[in-house]
Amino acid sequence: MLEKKPQNMGKGSVVVITAPSGAGKTTLAKKLLAEFEQLVFSVSATTRKPRAREVHGKDYYFFDRAEFEAHIAKGDFLEWEEFYNGSLYGTLRSDVENHIKNGYFVLFDVEVNGALNLKNVYGSSCLSVFIKPPSMQVLESRLRSRGTESEETLSLRLERAQMELQQAGVFDAIVVNDDFDLAYTAVRELIISFTGCSY
Ligand code: 5GP
Repeated sequence: MLEKKPQNMGKGSVVVITAPSGAGKTTLAKKLLAEFEQLVFSVSATTRKPRAREVHGKDYYFFDRAEFEAHIAKGDFLEWEEFYNGSLYGTLRSDVENHIKNGYFVLFDVEVNGALNLKNVYGSSCLSVFIKPPSMQVLESRLRSRGTESEETLSLRLERAQMELQQAGVFDAIVVNDDFDLAYTAVRELIISFTGCSY
């Protein structure tokens, strides 16, 4: 098991990976976390049901709607969004603050609106990377092969993806995920030059 090593005392820098759902950002994020010892994952909260092999507290905090709304009411979220059949997704402020206080860089895997909100919060301390699928056809076939979507949620995700692709230009960098290894290398280089970390 890799031991995480803090190196970023007090700087509070964050890396946001964003993309339409199915573009491969979660796979990229997992590989980055396995390589970079100074990078820790911001575990989001959601009201959607866990998929097979997803673990509470590791992949997401799985809350019911009442729990999630109680956190909203208390102002516990740095940002949150509602989408796909009313599922809620959000970033818990306290987790992120603890990571930063402990000297880590924090990696976020969030959809486009959440990424824009995080960019507003962290400004120049935030590297935001948009992962672009090579085409809508490839995105659809990736979402289908994942086997986690009904026809209804699949078409909602594709509809949302069209809107998200139009926002790509506002992020610090765009990386096309056609070949995974090439996309990974590009994101890795961006992180190394932004954070000054090697892995
Ligand atoms: P999924 O249901 O496929 O795990 O996630 C759906 C979308 O929600 C993905 O694009 C994912 O990156 C995004 N997401 C996950 N956590 C958060 C969060 O805390 N805030 C926001 N705004 N989006 C999130």
